Amino acid sequence: MKKVLAFDVDQTLNIAKTPITDEIADLLVKCLDHFEICPISGQKFDQFLIQIVDRLPNPTAEQLSHLHLFVAQGTQYYRHNGQDWGQVYNYPLTDEQVAKITATIEQAARELGYWEADKLKPGDEIIENRLSQVTFSALGQKAGTEEKYAWDPDHKKREAIVVRCRELSPEFDYEIGGTTSINAITPGMNKAFGMTHLLEELHVNKEDILYFGDMTQPGGNDYPVVQMGIDTITVRTHEDTAYALKGILGVIGK
Ligand SMILES: [Mg+2]
Repeated sequence: MKKVLAFDVDQTLNIAKTPITDEIADLLVKCLDHFEICPISGQKFDQFLIQIVDRLPNPTAEQLSHLHLFVAQGTQYYRHNGQDWGQVYNYPLTDEQVAKITATIEQAARELGYWEADKLKPGDEIIENRLSQVTFSALGQKAGTEEKYAWDPDHKKREAIVVRCRELSPEFDYEIGGTTSINAITPGMNKAFGMTHLLEELHVNKEDILYFGDMTQPGGNDYPVVQMGIDTITVRTHEDTAYALKGILGVIGK
């Protein structure tokens, strides 16, 4: 039997950038009794708390000890010590790398006419330094979900931005994720990095892991996990994930 269930977050556990549903929260808590549970996403630690951890219905310390948060594509790892969350490791970008990536993405988006600064809500930003990666969110973090879905449903705008970014600064990797996002990282600092560290930290083999993601196609931010040879379930939405988790819990009789 698999020992670890690992999950992309945006679109796999939730509707992008929103808290998980009661159904997913309930299923995850049940799974914590049987598996190590590892969400891995480009988002920051506080969003893992808001979107996942705070939604879990009364988890015990024992259950939380089986929840492993792989933040910023797994370049940061947090686990619970019975009292609070603690950071186990962190691999940040340098200030120079952050500045170069930020300038590159802005230039590419401006050239293509996809720099939507006029649509931002007050205090919001298009490019965010997430320490281990820099993230472009075309409409900012605070835009409405429908607005985000409508912006680039076929990925064409982001694919064009990525092509231009690669011309401008080929030393970085650019991945499409979520609904309006591009994550820029140093090569290798993608989900494969996080999953490789997961193997070490949890003392498990690739065969022990089942991974759920919605962007498992080449170029998608879940694809590096597929390339590692980890068993993967491709979902369209969190509803597919819920079906699969119900099936898994059904098979083990819970
Ligand atoms: Mg996703």
